Amino acid sequence: MEMQVKNVPVSENGHIDDLSIDALKFLRLSDTRNDESDSTAENHEEQQQEADLLCRNPYESLAYLEEETETVEIPEHEKETEETERKPSESSEKHKELSRINGQINRMRIEQLKKRLRQFCLDTSGTRSVLQQRLKAYYKRKVFKETECHYSYYVVIDFEATCDAHPHNIRHEIIEFPAVLVSTKKKKIVAKFHSYVRPVINPKLTTFCTNLTGITQEQVNFAPQFPEVLRKFEDWLKEHNLKTDMKTFAVVTDGPWDMGRFLYHQCNISKVSYPQWAKTWINIKKPFCNFYNTERMNLQGMLTKLGMTFIGHPHSGLDDARNIARVTLKLHEDGANMRVNEQISFKKPKSIEHRLHTVKGISRNSFNAMIKRRSVDPPRDGESEHVSDESEEEEDPFEDHEISCATGSAVCEAEYDKDFPSLQAKEPKILL
Ligand code: MG
Ligand code: MG
Repeated sequence: MEMQVKNVPVSENGHIDDLSIDALKFLRLSDTRNDESDSTAENHEEQQQEADLLCRNPYESLAYLEEETETVEIPEHEKETEETERKPSESSEKHKELSRINGQINRMRIEQLKKRLRQFCLDTSGTRSVLQQRLKAYYKRKVFKETECHYSYYVVIDFEATCDAHPHNIRHEIIEFPAVLVSTKKKKIVAKFHSYVRPVINPKLTTFCTNLTGITQEQVNFAPQFPEVLRKFEDWLKEHNLKTDMKTFAVVTDGPWDMGRFLYHQCNISKVSYPQWAKTWINIKKPFCNFYNTERMNLQGMLTKLGMTFIGHPHSGLDDARNIARVTLKLHEDGANMRVNEQISFKKPKSIEHRLHTVKGISRNSFNAMIKRRSVDPPRDGESEHVSDESEEEEDPFEDHEISCATGSAVCEAEYDKDFPSLQAKEPKILL
């Protein structure tokens, strides 16, 4: 029998009889209403009635209503089946409870959200939607008693490359190679790697580039060339026991460009194999906009949304990496699903519109398949982690066009390849 109660704020899929007492104790309706109609006496009375209804044992309420229904005799042989069907599984009960809690959180005012977060010793910074997601994730972990953490470390990388005010005039080369190591257990940055890189095609930096990145001509003049820096970085990974398996670490970047353009093309320029560790990565923009339900935004926008400000010099590779790490940690702590979501692709573009043909998305199903494969048959060190092409998603690199303009890298792929045809000619070999 369906219960009909006017204005009772049940969640979209929920019913009064789905209420959990524990959920109600946490989230009394009378504490959490956020309607504009709060002030009217009529609505106050309605709210009181709703609160009374919600605070009653829901199963008792259901039993009361069932008393009025006609009693139908159930044949003895059908009784067991009926009971089995009626008894909800533990999992569906948990989902209902979570749905109820989420509905209540959606109606909380920002002060109420902060108060609740403080009670659980959680961070109270960020916009209302961020606070809601943080609280929802907390309850989800509490109800399901699980935390989804795929890696022990994140290696956050943000390359800086040669650039010009007129991006078509320059073939980008990496000039700064920074990385910060984030421990998911300690929830902080525990190590860093940093080196400037000497460009060979355009050894002289433009004024635009120096002003934007803060990198001086002297810094690159005395820096090693890319192959040597890459070797040093891989030694650094080894020093920290960072194996390229599914459990130890994932590379994190702000957008697809660091790997899909800068590293990919630099490997071509330097005639070195594309490294194994860079084949898959977490593009932080994806979990950010999924988890906090926002549009894709640049680093500055993500920090602002989280109630933080940029620390250091924007477009300094190391400072960018540190700030991306702060966003990464916040997402991790708030319970976002941090999994690799992009991979390098060496396929030829299907059409000229596929500007960033070097990047493919990794779907949730593909990722789950990767995890499954690894738990059954763990990879040997250096074994390829490339996801099968069948399950790849088409990437839409246009999303990041505006953002990359800031670093001078928003070159139309078609024009870029026309200007530099050698980029299309060779596909880097996978480092084994
Ligand atoms: Mg960047
Ligand atoms: Mg940068």
